[in-house]
Amino acid sequence: MSTISNEKYEAVIGLEVHAQLLTESKAFAPVSSQYGGAPNTQVTPLCLGHPGTLPVLNENLVRYIIKMGLATGCSIAEKSIFARKNYFYPDLPKGYQISQYDTPICYGGKIEIELEEYNKTIGITRIHMEEDAGKSIHDQDPYHTLVDLNRAGTPLIEIVSEPDIRTASEAYHYLSKIKQIVQYLGICDGNMEEGSLRCDANVSIRPRGREKFGTRTELKNMNSFRNVERAINFEIERQIELVESGGEVVQQTLLWDPNKLETRQMRSKEEAHDYRYFPEPDLPPVVVTDELLDDIKKELPELPSVRYKRFIKELGLSEDDSYILTETRAMADFYEEALTHLNEPKAVANLVLTEVLRVLNEQSISIEAFSIQPKPLTELIQLKLDDKISSSAMQQIFNEMLKSDKSASDLAKEMNLLQVSDTGFLDPIVDEVIASNPDEVERYKGGKKQLIGFFIGQVMQRSKGKANPKMVRELILTRLDEQ
Ligand code: ADP
Ligand code: MG
Repeated sequence: MSTISNEKYEAVIGLEVHAQLLTESKAFAPVSSQYGGAPNTQVTPLCLGHPGTLPVLNENLVRYIIKMGLATGCSIAEKSIFARKNYFYPDLPKGYQISQYDTPICYGGKIEIELEEYNKTIGITRIHMEEDAGKSIHDQDPYHTLVDLNRAGTPLIEIVSEPDIRTASEAYHYLSKIKQIVQYLGICDGNMEEGSLRCDANVSIRPRGREKFGTRTELKNMNSFRNVERAINFEIERQIELVESGGEVVQQTLLWDPNKLETRQMRSKEEAHDYRYFPEPDLPPVVVTDELLDDIKKELPELPSVRYKRFIKELGLSEDDSYILTETRAMADFYEEALTHLNEPKAVANLVLTEVLRVLNEQSISIEAFSIQPKPLTELIQLKLDDKISSSAMQQIFNEMLKSDKSASDLAKEMNLLQVSDTGFLDPIVDEVIASNPDEVERYKGGKKQLIGFFIGQVMQRSKGKANPKMVRELILTRLDEQ
């Protein structure tokens, strides 16, 4: 992917990422927050902003955000408060969102990203809790805007990065890492296309070597990883051109247009919000006790970076293989479940990284939807390790297993792919091959030892591929040395 490299300027980028949490109910009301219900069926008087209703904090919101904070090395505030962020919009009947302002629950963390050429640490300024607004629907009715309040009050966390990011590619990797972590933690499904992960990018440029930051613009509406990268590159280039032609960057919010592949102005600083934040009077402060913290620490899964290192150190995998196998928690779980049935880390990794990944790519599915379970898969690998089948037979049986419930060994028999190690069957073939190739035998004895491959090939051919090549090799070697 293209990265703008400009010798004169350097970009400074900070991301604000919203993750929608997988809690069952809303942030402050006992009603489902699941996506996809008929419009306005998941609302309470509180979601509608009726006077006299009071919010009650969903404890899982606190637990989930603390998990994210711990996973990113943040400090967890013993006491933090909610604040009202006030603005008017039709999909916000209360007239404010409950959020956190100057006391976020998590602060001062970091996320490590690995690019091809280098690794880098991106600082996390803060992670705070907030609720989502409803949804305005503009395209269903030509005369009216419709409002669906199912989403109003859905719990979100906002992860704000330090302005440590320098290229669109770093932003892409940072965002991928966040997706990976929230998925490992099981707190968000990480789906950008469906909006459960959303990203705003703050972008500025400065002459290389200068410390002071330039004026930033804020990019919104990028609903895929690729668009985040494209939009940032577009914006860096736009700002450089602007400054080079004598202009000045104006602080403003820009919307990415995924069809035109360009940004356009949304609102300028003059109209920028004054949200009139003030402490939420209807909710008590959030107090995090040591007990709660210990309890959540116990629930934390092994994080992707730790698992990645363990696969290399304890299982002897290469960095690349470990990277792919730990990319999603589901994939790493699948692999490790297979190892409980067959403790051969490399052989199992090989099959998963070739055949299984090929099928996942071809069918555009994730490992959860893969049709072969880890155990039957290891039975297939076992056949190969025992030399009962050849590599190509393993592939053929694998392809058959995708469509059938039969075991690997049943299929090997049915498909006539079991290798023969029986000397009663192999001896006469070996004799035949040696007898009919006297010249090669002479040359072999004269020192051309690589001809062993030729003899094995001949036997394999005559046995129609059914001979066990290791066995054949031994038989030929003893026969040639006897003569
Ligand atoms: P706001 O609340 O107005 O969005 P913040 O100070 O919270 O502003 O910053 C939001 C994001 O913008 C953070 O991720 C921060 O790292 C980033 N940021 C701040 N200044 C700059 C800048 N000059 N260039 C690029 N990003 C910046
Ligand atoms: Mg902002």
